[in-house]
Amino acid sequence: MPIGESRAGAHRYSFVRRFGTLVSRTRTYRCLNCLDETVTRSFDTSHLSMTCPDCGSFERFANESVIERFESLEASPPAELDWDRLERREKLLVAERLARTDKTLADFDVVGGDATEG
Ligand SMILES: [Zn+2]
Repeated sequence: MPIGESRAGAHRYSFVRRFGTLVSRTRTYRCLNCLDETVTRSFDTSHLSMTCPDCGSFERFANESVIERFESLEASPPAELDWDRLERREKLLVAERLARTDKTLADFDVVGGDATEG
């Protein structure tokens, strides 16, 4: 059997495993104002909007996958973006798009304004 075929099988397996976690796990959402309070829900969406029981602000609660992406971007800012010049909400928006859609950093035009293509 050619090597390529076992590779394809492994890829398929990891996809199935990933999909399985999406439908069975509860999701954690974190308050974007205080970044302290978390709530869990049985459904998976990009964010919730609710009054935070901790800071009392009506806030967006972001999916944990978005927070994880945000933190990894903070830890190693992408060369494609002028990351440090973004406000926290803008950073979170980028993180949300990256984590929740099939967008990549190449889809964002926040560097100079002349990078729009296609
Ligand atoms: Zn809060």
